[in-house]
Amino acid sequence: MSILKSDFGPISIPDTDLPSFIFQSIEDACPDTNLTALVDGSSRQSISYKQLKTLSFRFASLLQNKLKVHPGDVVLIFAPNHILYPVVVLGIHLAGAIASPTNPGFTQKELTHQIKDSEAKAIVTIKALSDDIVKKAIIGTNISESKLVLLDTEPSLSTTPHPTTTTTTDDIENGFKRYFPKPNDLAFINYSSGTTGFPKGVMLTHTNIISNICQIIALESHDPIVSSLDRTQHHQMWLGVLPFFHIYGLTVVLLLALVKGHGVVVIPKFNVQTVLECIQAYKITVAPVVPPIILQLSQYPGLLDKYKLDSLVYLMSAAAPLGKNLEAKASRRLGGVPIIQAYGLTETSPLTHKCFVKGSPSGSVGKLVPNIELKIVVGRDEKNGKEILANIGSTRNINDYDDDDSEEVGEICVRGPNLMLGYLRNQEANSESIDSDGFFHTGDIGYVDKNGFMFISDRKKELIKYKGFQIAPAELEAMLVLHPKVSDAAVIPAFDKERHSEVPKAFIVLSNSNPSDHNAVCKEVKEWVNRQVANHKQLRGGVEAIDEIPKNPSGKILRKILRERERLSARNK
Ligand code: AMP
Repeated sequence: MSILKSDFGPISIPDTDLPSFIFQSIEDACPDTNLTALVDGSSRQSISYKQLKTLSFRFASLLQNKLKVHPGDVVLIFAPNHILYPVVVLGIHLAGAIASPTNPGFTQKELTHQIKDSEAKAIVTIKALSDDIVKKAIIGTNISESKLVLLDTEPSLSTTPHPTTTTTTDDIENGFKRYFPKPNDLAFINYSSGTTGFPKGVMLTHTNIISNICQIIALESHDPIVSSLDRTQHHQMWLGVLPFFHIYGLTVVLLLALVKGHGVVVIPKFNVQTVLECIQAYKITVAPVVPPIILQLSQYPGLLDKYKLDSLVYLMSAAAPLGKNLEAKASRRLGGVPIIQAYGLTETSPLTHKCFVKGSPSGSVGKLVPNIELKIVVGRDEKNGKEILANIGSTRNINDYDDDDSEEVGEICVRGPNLMLGYLRNQEANSESIDSDGFFHTGDIGYVDKNGFMFISDRKKELIKYKGFQIAPAELEAMLVLHPKVSDAAVIPAFDKERHSEVPKAFIVLSNSNPSDHNAVCKEVKEWVNRQVANHKQLRGGVEAIDEIPKNPSGKILRKILRERERLSARNK
């Protein structure tokens, strides 16, 4: 057998919409609705579960009645982490609309692009971003200023109790009519560049997200440490530092915590000190993070002398590779708190794999969550073109393996109920990434060991990840060739040890310049690009002039050659 099924499950997935699922789960998990659902780690402003529900309905009513948002419309969320973020998401769904969470670090041009691409009809943002960016970005789009909502100043979202209304949802003003989306209706359009090209809208349905939450919970029910934690501490506080606009922060932190009846300590902008203070002050149990945060924790001087972190049960790292050494060092510095990995993609809502808190091999990204099937494509038959798959079948018997065939490396492909509906208006990308058997080809390279644990060893796709944030090389390349002194360009990932992160590095061919100018022109080009892109896309790996960009006969950039060149030059430095 070469298709691996999860060791857990199958499980059944509720056939409903996200708000119904979330509100019902909260009712089941958290009978005291006055408990904190979200608290701002700095200002300490908070909302309870009861307020979360009331405010979500109130926000839905505002969208429907004041902004005239209709079912099926896309509403863009352009905001940093905020205690009202789930209110906005659930309000959008209660009005039957689709949420498109967007990176609040985007430049005006990048935001305009996403408004147009998603065909958004309204934008939820905060005052500072509205004045600086949004009002300029909407010029030339279908959105007028009357279609903007400021979640930090909107009176109906005030978190202090409304003097004239009770806090039940039965008194929704203005004749609001709740919409019940169908399970396969779109809930979110998040953006990902996938295996190649520009960022694309990833269409995620209500069922996709509900499935992933249920899949994670089902896997965790087999993890003795997590299940005992959930049994003994009904209302935990989780760390909400990962951006909620990214699928990891959205599903695995925000929505999962709410469904389990836990609270989230919201941190709008990462700062290691704030994180440590919040873990201590709110007795945080679970800290979902990314490798660069783990790096900063591991380097923090006198960590345990300054902070009492004994509430922490585990840290979970995903979205980017975590080195074994860093994992071990950080865990030691944290007094032995386990650091485990999970793996997934925007396209899979996101998690396909998660480790158990104890007993998972170091470096592994974990085991398959229920209801997912996995195959690893190691090559193609030369004669008939058929895929050759690694031998990782569910009926495997550990004794059948020898060391050679247990770790066949290839492209990881998955299918399951959490797999996206597809890329928005992009049939070509859909057929390139989802095969005729319904398997999504992730573009990641890895293997599964004989006990069913997966390891990621490389990435075949173009994607670059800076601190967990996506960078599409194609986007930077398209910009680079617009510079008058650049005739061709390619962007690849370089590795920045100090940041423990990939960084984008550009190779450029200069139009006509004297080799003695190269350094100055490269610097000029780097600064020119950096002025136009969001912070995470800056060319931190540098710009290097070369004679020619290596390409195959059909013009495709041979990134492997450039990556190898970069690897050798890094080694010789
Ligand atoms: P995104 O869609 O932004 O979540 O990015 C998904 C990509 O992040 C995957 O295809 C991987 O390349 C990478 N990724 C996610 N989790 C991990 C992990 N635990 N280890 C290595 N890479 C990861």
